Amino acid sequence: MYDVIVVGGGAAGMMAAGQAAMTGAKAVLLEKTDRLGKKVAISGKGRCNITNAADVATIIKQFPGNGNFLYGPLYTFDNQALVEFLAQRGVATKVERGQRVFPVSDDAEQIVDAFKQFLRQTGVEIRTQAQVNKILRQEQQITGVRLTSGEIVPGKAVIICTGGLSYPATGSTGDGYHWAQELGHTVIPTRPALVPLVSAESWVKQLQGLALRNVQLTAWRGSKVLDTQFGEMLFAHFGITGPIVLSISRAVVDELARAKQHVLVTLDLKPALSGEQLDARLQRDFTALARKQFKNSLQDLLPKNLIPVIIDLSQIPPEKEVHQITREERLHLGRLLKRLPMTIIKSLPIAAAIVTAGGVSVKEINPKTLESKLCQGLFFAGEVIDVDAYTGGYNLQAAFSTGYLAGKSAAIGSSEH
Ligand SMILES: Cc1cc2nc3c(=O)[nH]c(=O)nc-3n(C[C@H](O)[C@H](O)[C@H](O)COP(=O)(O)OP(=O)(O)OC[C@H]3O[C@@H](n4cnc5c(N)ncnc54)[C@H](O)[C@@H]3O)c2cc1C
Repeated sequence: MYDVIVVGGGAAGMMAAGQAAMTGAKAVLLEKTDRLGKKVAISGKGRCNITNAADVATIIKQFPGNGNFLYGPLYTFDNQALVEFLAQRGVATKVERGQRVFPVSDDAEQIVDAFKQFLRQTGVEIRTQAQVNKILRQEQQITGVRLTSGEIVPGKAVIICTGGLSYPATGSTGDGYHWAQELGHTVIPTRPALVPLVSAESWVKQLQGLALRNVQLTAWRGSKVLDTQFGEMLFAHFGITGPIVLSISRAVVDELARAKQHVLVTLDLKPALSGEQLDARLQRDFTALARKQFKNSLQDLLPKNLIPVIIDLSQIPPEKEVHQITREERLHLGRLLKRLPMTIIKSLPIAAAIVTAGGVSVKEINPKTLESKLCQGLFFAGEVIDVDAYTGGYNLQAAFSTGYLAGKSAAIGSSEH
């Protein structure tokens, strides 16, 4: 009989199992794939943006999905505690742009190795290729789990750390949601968050591969701004992706579902300039280049690949000499550069998302212990809970913090039974 069974060997599960064992519990970690931490290993493009160096209150603001639920877990085990935890296991970290924290090695595998070392040192029994298919309980008390092999693993407490639905090849296929529902929990409908967006315009696809920096993307409902993000983005064969697109997708996906029609996003190619300042700049450029053809006048203003697209959308004849461009044409061009419209028709599927929005309702989980309010001995940690953040290291911090708290609470709870 185990004191604590942890289901899922991702970020949350590895932390939870180690903490449970450190707190004195006999703990087993059950992972269905052949190795631990597959998603951690691909996170941050293989560099693993483990956390963010901002203070806890600022971190919580980066969770459009139920940030307030994380006060308890984050104050119990915050970003500094995570950095120290890793330092004690030989992982030095560095802070990059946007306060993003990475291992100095730029190697996500080093994080997985540090956790494996932690699990060994704390005496956790690790079982890979052990796929759970049912959580067992008698009346309202957890009694263990059943594996797909039919084996029963008895335990006093179970922590569900099965992650969300994104990148299913890493093992996250949403199993935890079904069990939570079977055990009476509400699962808030899951949907992709931090996901590339598909646009209707053919010119968007033509720009495939073009990366833009220091641009501003805004999502609209009529004249209302749903979200606006400044930074980097990338054009792809299906539409748009990159950091600011992933962030804005959180609002766009919900708006697509709400409105049941496409969503307008606009791109400000010159966010540092007001409309008037940009027009003054165009006037200066056009005076200097008066005898050039329009198609040869935008080199200093725009990346090369974007020029034919903007010329086309401006409806100014490309061969027209710059001094012949009318005021209306110039003002229209300026508006295009400040508000280049794109029609978002859908997102890529959840399998291509970085995280899953929705999940086990936070209302039915005690935020001080992460124990289910409905079923004694049942705990949740990580992405399976209905919390999600923007990019920047927040999602992994949430998984580590909830894993830490659930592991400790489950160990303490099981010793009391
Ligand atoms: C490409 C990509 C890049 C990312 N980069 C970052 C980043 O740089 N920074 C950041 O903060 N976040 C990042 N994220 C998000 C972050 O990785 C996740 O939010 C986090 O890993 C979630 O941790 P978890 O432990 O809850 O779930 P997971 O890491 O998904 O782990 C769940 C585990 O449960 C196992 N499991 C599932 N079902 C069963 C079952 N039935 N029986 C046994 N085991 C089971 C799975 O095999 C898996 O190992 C990224 C995500 C992706 C997809």
